[in-house]
Amino acid sequence: MSSARRRSKSSSPALPSYNEAAELVAAYAARLARLRPGPRSSGASNSGPRGSDPDGPCIERVPLDQALGRVLAEPLRADADQPPFARSTRDGFACRAAEASSHRPLAVAGSTRAGQTPPGSLPRGSAWEIMTGAPVPAGADAVVMLEHVKEFDAHVEESGGPSARAVRLVPPRTIRKGENIVARGAQARKGDKLLLAGSWIGSAQIALAGSCGCATLNVFIKPRVAILSTGDELVPIGSAPGPGQIRNSSSAMLAAMVRAAGGDPWILPIARDTAKSLDTALARAASADLLLITGGVSAGKFDLVEPALIRAGARFHLTGVRIQPGKPLVFGEIPFRSIKPGPKLRRTKCPIFGLPGNPVSSAVTFMLFAAPIVAALAGRGGTDPSDARGPRFALARLAEDVKTKTSLTRFLPAACTFSGAFPEVALVPWQGSGDLAAMALANCFLVVPEDSDRLRAGSTVRILLP
Ligand code: AMP
Ligand code: MG
Repeated sequence: MSSARRRSKSSSPALPSYNEAAELVAAYAARLARLRPGPRSSGASNSGPRGSDPDGPCIERVPLDQALGRVLAEPLRADADQPPFARSTRDGFACRAAEASSHRPLAVAGSTRAGQTPPGSLPRGSAWEIMTGAPVPAGADAVVMLEHVKEFDAHVEESGGPSARAVRLVPPRTIRKGENIVARGAQARKGDKLLLAGSWIGSAQIALAGSCGCATLNVFIKPRVAILSTGDELVPIGSAPGPGQIRNSSSAMLAAMVRAAGGDPWILPIARDTAKSLDTALARAASADLLLITGGVSAGKFDLVEPALIRAGARFHLTGVRIQPGKPLVFGEIPFRSIKPGPKLRRTKCPIFGLPGNPVSSAVTFMLFAAPIVAALAGRGGTDPSDARGPRFALARLAEDVKTKTSLTRFLPAACTFSGAFPEVALVPWQGSGDLAAMALANCFLVVPEDSDRLRAGSTVRILLP
């Protein structure tokens, strides 16, 4: 590593701020999303044949119950009006609102439960017993709730059959047209685009796709994210660390984070702090869609990752950011190397992150910068501006004074409680960015702006959500 590069890492003012770095990464993510072979836009058929893509199979079909966390490769369209019939949202009596509101007795003309259809329309001056989810008979324009009527025997016929029942809306209550009915097609019309290609699939999206009859979904193939932990002191998790050694906990952590962001993690063997070991590992890893390297990016004597990246032909976009933890972060790209023919995105470069080795630093820099790139490579939000790829921030009330130093934006492990009227956040005591126990007690990170040396108890602060 050149001394000039080392100097640039230790002189904070030369480094970009968090916002500048985040904007750069967001612009890069947007470019990557555009490079991804386009989603299928002619998604008129939810169950049509799988599309063939000249760039290789970028889309796969998965069973609906395995679609959680995947990204839709084509729009989801309503296969029918939703709801498909005017539906009662209450147990009660379908009626004409004007008649019911006059408080006259209404003869109960029939009864329909969910799964049945009323045989005819509602006769004038009558009501129709109806259950939640059942189709409302033609002619009815409201449903009075069971709890709001008085039911009695009208003695219309001696037989005591259904026509003897009558109900009256209990005064002074009245009812308006449309109450407790969802009109046919009010949620969606047949053919409407309900979800755009690029949408992340959660449980609600799975339910919606199920309601449209999709037993399978076309989703983007997940990007392969290589994870390379570096360090002479690291041993695999299953090994007993010798003197001076520690377990490689970060690879497993990052694999989990990659999965949550929509990627397919590929954990590589630990690389040692030697040029040869790093060169060999990089040659292999450059076949991934994204490479995450941990450790070896600070200014120490054995921080050899940047020189190795330069030998691999790297172009750097970031070599440090004014944040803590995570200041030595490296972001760039190396030429893509195909180790075997197979599905590839339309790219010639493999984006790389050099994440600082301390696990809390690795976690924070992943959340802030790498996760948006994974999401973009996964095809997420490429066409849907509302599906943000960036980190999620929220506001909370600070429980206690926090003192720090200026010049770096800080992301400090914190615990936020959501039980009160407003989220309340407090720092988790920590021993620095190697403190995994503290990070495991935290559920967010308190954001301290770089110009603040103090945040006061009771003030509204930003938190970074996982
Ligand atoms: P480095 O960035 O390589 O200087 O590493 C900073 C600190 O993080 C050192 O204490 C390392 O032992 C620790 N560290 C580096 N990589 C890992 C890893 N994969 N898992 C756990 N700790 C690590
Ligand atoms: Mg190291």
